[in-house]
Amino acid sequence: MKRMFEPLTRMVMSNLLARGGHGPAAIVGVRTMASSLLAHRRMAVTAAVSRVVMLLSVALVAVPVVLPAKAVAVAAVTSSSPSAAELRRAVVAESALVWRVYRDIHEHPELGKQEHRTHDLLKRELTRLGYTEFVESKLAPTAVIAVLDTKRPGPVIALRAEMDARPTQEPADHDPRSTIDGVMHNCGHDAHAAMLLGTAALLSKHPEWISGRVVFVFQPAEETQGGADDIVNEGILERLGVEAIFAQHSVSGMPVGTVNVAAGPTMAGSAYFTLHITGDGSHAAQPSAGNDVLLAAASIVHDLANMPARRIDILSRPVVISPTSFVAGTDAGTNVLPGEAVVKGTIRAFEQAEPSGSSDSTTIGAIMRRYLDGASTALGVGYELDIRQGSPPTVNDERLFARLSAPLAAGWGAGFDTTPYRGMFSEDFAFYTESLPSLYFGLGIARDGLGSGGVHSPEFTIHPSALVEGVRLMGLVAISATEVGVAK
Ligand SMILES: [Zn+2]
Ligand SMILES: [Zn+2]
Repeated sequence: MKRMFEPLTRMVMSNLLARGGHGPAAIVGVRTMASSLLAHRRMAVTAAVSRVVMLLSVALVAVPVVLPAKAVAVAAVTSSSPSAAELRRAVVAESALVWRVYRDIHEHPELGKQEHRTHDLLKRELTRLGYTEFVESKLAPTAVIAVLDTKRPGPVIALRAEMDARPTQEPADHDPRSTIDGVMHNCGHDAHAAMLLGTAALLSKHPEWISGRVVFVFQPAEETQGGADDIVNEGILERLGVEAIFAQHSVSGMPVGTVNVAAGPTMAGSAYFTLHITGDGSHAAQPSAGNDVLLAAASIVHDLANMPARRIDILSRPVVISPTSFVAGTDAGTNVLPGEAVVKGTIRAFEQAEPSGSSDSTTIGAIMRRYLDGASTALGVGYELDIRQGSPPTVNDERLFARLSAPLAAGWGAGFDTTPYRGMFSEDFAFYTESLPSLYFGLGIARDGLGSGGVHSPEFTIHPSALVEGVRLMGLVAISATEVGVAK
């Protein structure tokens, strides 16, 4: 398969910021697509699908028959790494499976914790591949966790994919397209799950390439709550003896064939706030008769957004505070100044906004409360602030990165980018990074006009050729972990 490796342009780097993609900036670059291009998308997709089908028929003929997993696992005594060409051939042999499952999950998207059909599909496919060891999760029952045991001493690693979709209406000209109104896979989790299944197929057919055990984690509810956190809290990976965990995420606008991974904290943690501001309402003609809560709240919204850089040194503490919702008054109340306003928003930082039980006056929460104490007194209103912690920051383990980045770069070839990176998006993979050495990779999905729409936007698509690249990356991670180990 011919590949073109393009340099990372500025546009691509800005789209990199959309990885993890939990925010409006995920739409970076999408709107720039001309509407005429949209008209061509269906043709482009159809052409791409035809290419995949052609590729599959060639690949399936070209790849030699492999022994069943069990026979190979028993027969092999030591592991031996495949050449780059051998790995590519074996990965391409899984194209049909990956494409079929990707299409199936994409057409039947399910929201967080409701991934029952996806669960059944993945478990059925894994069973068909010969997997027999499954671990159930009580807290996250739609998760599918399967174990490949080579029966040889070696590292115990976990590879993780997500399964959940999002509440978005998919445009009519997409193919494949969601069959469920108002629900769409526009964060790439369908692709990640299909790619991980492809990796499970690849490694079960080539256990001679690895040693130790590989735990495949198909995880629900990345977009909501109770995905990674439930699996971590249940201690499942701990009980399985997992020493390191890896995951990949589609990166809009990054060319197919490119991968990025950086050491250290790469994505921010998230927190969410709700602020109630109260006071006396009055007639609109007489603001001085009340506290003009709406105007006070507007002033507070302005100051909250400006807090980073003015009250927090963002050079040493990158922080974003974004009010995202402001409700005050009623539609009918054009001559009434309301007595209450509710402001909601997001905090992104590489630290916990308000660690529980902390009396530290320098936390983001403490700084917000100190400001609100002063502002509410000055404006004559009362307030109540609630801060809920979301995901912690995603931290790629420095030592794991140092150990694996060279063999991975060598095995991957051109397009393996290790430029230091930090972004303000967040990801629930962070819950694993808190408890285990971890690496989180960005995977290029853009080619021929597909894969440029930002994650979480309705225009999000993936070029089909990215699917096998995701299988190759996860396969290479398992092979490299065997080669150099993951232990600290
Ligand atoms: Zn995602
Ligand atoms: Zn997402």
